[in-house]
Amino acid sequence: MDLHFELPTTGDGAASVWDVAIVGGGPAGATAAMYAARADLRVIVLDKGLTASALGITSRIANYPGVPEEISGAELLRRMREQAQRFGAVFVQDKVQAVDLESDPKLLFANGGTYEARAVIIATGSMARGQRVKGEEELLGRGVSYCATCDGAFFRDQDVAVAGNTDEAVEEALFLTRFARTVHFLSPTPRIHAPEPLLHELSSQPNVRLYLGAALREVIGGDHVTGVRVALRDGGEQVLPVNGAFIYLQGGRPATDFLGGQLPLNETGCVRVDAEYRTTIPGVYAVGDVLCNHVKQAVVAAAEGAIAAMAVEKALRGRKQLAVDWSK
Ligand SMILES: Cc1cc2nc3c(=O)[nH]c(=O)nc-3n(C[C@H](O)[C@H](O)[C@H](O)COP(=O)(O)OP(=O)(O)OC[C@H]3O[C@@H](n4cnc5c(N)ncnc54)[C@H](O)[C@@H]3O)c2cc1C
Repeated sequence: MDLHFELPTTGDGAASVWDVAIVGGGPAGATAAMYAARADLRVIVLDKGLTASALGITSRIANYPGVPEEISGAELLRRMREQAQRFGAVFVQDKVQAVDLESDPKLLFANGGTYEARAVIIATGSMARGQRVKGEEELLGRGVSYCATCDGAFFRDQDVAVAGNTDEAVEEALFLTRFARTVHFLSPTPRIHAPEPLLHELSSQPNVRLYLGAALREVIGGDHVTGVRVALRDGGEQVLPVNGAFIYLQGGRPATDFLGGQLPLNETGCVRVDAEYRTTIPGVYAVGDVLCNHVKQAVVAAAEGAIAAMAVEKALRGRKQLAVDWSK
């Protein structure tokens, strides 16, 4: 799969202030990017990985309008991103860890650096995890990590485990192979959802051990991680002695953790928006499955992305918008 990611810097290497930063490049984010870029706004999309999108893991899609042939979700997503790129949107593979949405410009803190934007569209979908595995929370920051780029260098010549089955997990594992002595890659499914060249690169690393259909059950340790307990495909269990556990598992919860409580969520844990997908913070919008109050389909997410992008364009160019009464 041919994915090009550019670094968002100006000529002097300083970070740019983008008109719109979109977090999440699934159908909602990619469509928002296309509409915003076509309206001549400077658009950056930050996405942690192609197969971390609900659409990216869909093996066949046959109900997207205008695409009569059965194609994989990943291919449909690639086409959407390519279309947005043609209008000038920049896609960067990066995971947003935290935000400051009240500042001007708004700040997005990601693994690869800090991004600044006048407006933000949140399109992170609903593939976040609900339940943590035993020991994960207690050992967070003491061997448990969600960011190889941030923490990988601490594990030089040590053994680590990576749990996940997306291209995000594979990319992170590959990064870790530069430092760690052994990287145990634990995929909860028999198949890893990642492009073939990435999988080939992973399996050809001499210091990678692949475990397919292996579920991470527990992170073990006292002061620091000392091992992981894994349920194997054959029904058995194994404890692997490791110093680090990098976890990239997916679930079915709206991905809002990185917002750090800055936006009010409704009773189902979803971001509140108005008819133009504006949140309670001016200049911040949310679209797609992260709202979880509608039919979860790619075409719906894409439509919401289009509406939000048009609202952003109006707002940034100072045109009138609908007034919102948040008391209702
Ligand atoms: C198994 C399955 C089958 C499906 N089949 C169909 C179908 O046949 N037809 C159909 O129309 N719909 C189908 N859907 C539903 C459809 O895939 C979703 O409704 C749609 O993908 C939602 O789009 P989205 O852009 O809101 O979220 P997503 O597609 O989930 O995209 C969210 C993006 O946000 C990124 N992200 C999340 N957190 C961060 C972060 N902190 N930093 C950076 N990036 C982040 C993720 O990497 C991801 O790319 C299916 C879903 C599943 C799970």
